[in-house]
Amino acid sequence: MNVKVCKFGGTSMATAKTIKKVASIVRKDKLRRYIVVSAPGKRFKDDLKITDLLYVLADEIIRENVTTTFDVIKERFLTIAKELHVVRPMRVILEETFIKMKQIKTVDFIVSRGEYLSAFLLAKYLKFEFVDAATLIRFKRNTIDFKQTDKVAKKALKNRFDVVIGGFYGTTAEGEIKLLSRGGSDVTGALIASAVKAKEYENWTDVNGFLVCDPKIVSDPKLIESLTYKEMRALSFMGASVIHSDTFYPVAKKGIPIHIRNTFNPRSPGTLIHQMIPGQKHSSPITGIAGLKNFTLIVVEKQFLSEKVGMDRKILSFPEKMDISVAHFPSGTDTFSMLIESKFLIDGKLDILVSQIRKAIKPDLLEVSQNIALISIVGRHLMSDNYNMLRLFTALINDNITIKTIDYGSSGVNIVIGVDGDDYSYAIQSIYKEFFLKGEDE
Ligand code: ASP
Repeated sequence: MNVKVCKFGGTSMATAKTIKKVASIVRKDKLRRYIVVSAPGKRFKDDLKITDLLYVLADEIIRENVTTTFDVIKERFLTIAKELHVVRPMRVILEETFIKMKQIKTVDFIVSRGEYLSAFLLAKYLKFEFVDAATLIRFKRNTIDFKQTDKVAKKALKNRFDVVIGGFYGTTAEGEIKLLSRGGSDVTGALIASAVKAKEYENWTDVNGFLVCDPKIVSDPKLIESLTYKEMRALSFMGASVIHSDTFYPVAKKGIPIHIRNTFNPRSPGTLIHQMIPGQKHSSPITGIAGLKNFTLIVVEKQFLSEKVGMDRKILSFPEKMDISVAHFPSGTDTFSMLIESKFLIDGKLDILVSQIRKAIKPDLLEVSQNIALISIVGRHLMSDNYNMLRLFTALINDNITIKTIDYGSSGVNIVIGVDGDDYSYAIQSIYKEFFLKGEDE
């Protein structure tokens, strides 16, 4: 359909002033007919998001120890509503909602009211129709039922335009309200875009888009103007937190581009995420660099390990039994290693895991290195020329950075290296310098 689905995040919905910006963006393009919103977010650095206040309120309601938290939330909404001249309906819906919260008394229901009220407020201001996400987004137990959602939302939104929908929640077939994971309004927007087969999914946030790397590590890194879904997934999986890493599933299937835009700088081109980027050659073979700290590397070495059938599976079965997910498992001749987020190995779990592997495998060597940082170097052109690898490793070696492990992903869009946690920022700076400051014309 020749329409756009626009999702506005918490900072865009934080005050009357920012909501006026949202409205002017919506009104500027006639194709912007489906709007998905987050609950009001932070107005200033140490402010609380409405969602965080709602978690506190949920706890109070469930423990039957209600204090003034609801009044704080109510005041936040009413202050915005007053300035937008929609205070009357807002007052009514706030009172109704509080009564329902005390009746239904589940965390998911109570917390979901942030996006519900936010959507209601914007709909009133825009004079659009408010559509409850509970009528569109389906859950099967605790996870989204993508197929059902597509069907239900498609039917419910047929011939309905100019609507505002709250993100971050949906219902089970039995009508129980369920929350998506934090930041999940991005996924709601993608689900709606897929259901109405939108021409584009615009995700309006408070940054210009994906940057080549973290601006806290490299000052003023370049903006990534376009990337593929796969590259986006690889970057957000490894910590580039512009949008929820699950956002691409619903839209990628239908080839709907995601366009990240900045509500506070609408002139910026933003980042366009597509299936494929036709014919365009990047100035750098790298699209972006992302990374995460605090991993533990466990290396197991045993003679003839590579020749024994099922050995890798056997080693991986130990973390699996302990419900620990393994982020990467690079292997070599007679060695097998696992990279695990250290937070999964606290409270003695590391010792248990290691002793189980020792007992079952009787390795010739078992080495544990903590404080490992992983850096994912992402680029669809990266693997097309071996010279890129030479440049990458030479840059790191010249900057005295020791590479502890490498996972040369078969996806063809990224390579993950592990370095000592203390070298993390230097390694990213080194790669950026090589590929973006000196390699501009390569
Ligand atoms: N308001 C929710 C959060 O803070 C969901 C969202 O913004 O997408 O996580």
